[in-house]
Amino acid sequence: MTHRVDVVVVGGGQAGLAAGYHLRRQGLDFTVLDADPAPGGAWQHMWDSLHLFSPAEHSSLPGRLMPAQAGELYPDAGHVVDYLADYEKRYDLPVQRGTRVNAVRGGVGDRLLIEADTGTWRARAVISAAGTWSRPFLPAIPGRGLFAGRQLHTVNYRSPADFTGQRVIVVGGGNSGAQIAADLALDGHVEVTWVTQRPPRFLADDIDGRALFDVATARRRALEEGRSDTGGVASLGDIVAVPPVRAARDAGLLVAKPMFSQLTADGVRWADASHARADAIIWCTGFRPALAHLAPLNLRSARGHIPTDGTRALGEPRLHLLGYGDWTGPASATLIGVGRLARDAARAIAQLL
Ligand code: FAD
Repeated sequence: MTHRVDVVVVGGGQAGLAAGYHLRRQGLDFTVLDADPAPGGAWQHMWDSLHLFSPAEHSSLPGRLMPAQAGELYPDAGHVVDYLADYEKRYDLPVQRGTRVNAVRGGVGDRLLIEADTGTWRARAVISAAGTWSRPFLPAIPGRGLFAGRQLHTVNYRSPADFTGQRVIVVGGGNSGAQIAADLALDGHVEVTWVTQRPPRFLADDIDGRALFDVATARRRALEEGRSDTGGVASLGDIVAVPPVRAARDAGLLVAKPMFSQLTADGVRWADASHARADAIIWCTGFRPALAHLAPLNLRSARGHIPTDGTRALGEPRLHLLGYGDWTGPASATLIGVGRLARDAARAIAQLL
């Protein structure tokens, strides 16, 4: 059966819900199609001890403040899932769960054709908000097939209990790598080696997601007003010193080794021939954007992204991209940042239609 709507939103995580909020305000008829069977987007899959790097009131979608979590300045992932589930219900957003979009095609006439595993939609515009969680990235490394232990990515990590008594190598100098290394090290029952491509750069202890957002906002304003570039957040460091990271670092448990050059059957080897045995390697090496469903539109650049002006795809004015990363707009892949961009996308679509 083919459904007809003004707009299809692909993905019902925070970006898809923010899009829904603003499409509703524009009076547009829309459906959100989400592959996951339950609300919460990527947050429902994150590891047990994960907390936000901003307080609740600085982690809100448009229209509704995230309530504080009792006893926690920085809410945990479960609190975010509850907030998103409540948000969706409160605004009565039409989210169809367990529906994976396989292809978006140019279609016939003025409509795009959206093919999902549960049906087909014809829409005058599409907002793609499929995130990155479903596309974990693993770097190429010699010997990957040789290692006889367990290899996991951030997406598979749950808690230190899964590694009791084991030697674990955590790879990655970003927030996920630092937080998972700290989680394992503070547990006290896991032998952890933390490995980073370059020396880890901790942000000052008083900088959390609030300050990062303020710096990003100041940069955007400066650029919009033709003033000189204020540098943005990249110059400040990479790792937010959230309480567990700070505790592990201050206890001397977060000392990074440089990247090894190959895997062996029972561990890893560095360029100077030194070797470490390991039972498991956890790759905290990032993600790529989930864009496969847009392949029929043939819009990707050599870098693998779809070039955009704001959120609008340069090669297809009926397509907007939301979330994913800063390339679809400043702070687009954050709870607090996605709202403004969702508003811009919904307005642009309303004008187009
Ligand atoms: P997602 O939450 O991944 O949602 C995408 C949805 O699209 C999913 O439900 C998925 O099932 C669905 N989907 C995917 N493909 C398809 C398809 N083909 N068809 C239909 N549906 C599809 N941000 C903050 O603001 N504060 C933080 O503290 C913070 N901490 C983070 C910690 C970690 C470890 C990570 C990885 C990210 C963190 N972020 C944080 C960044 C960001 O807020 C999250 O990554 C967030 O989940 C992104 O939301 P999203 O809606 O863009 O994508």
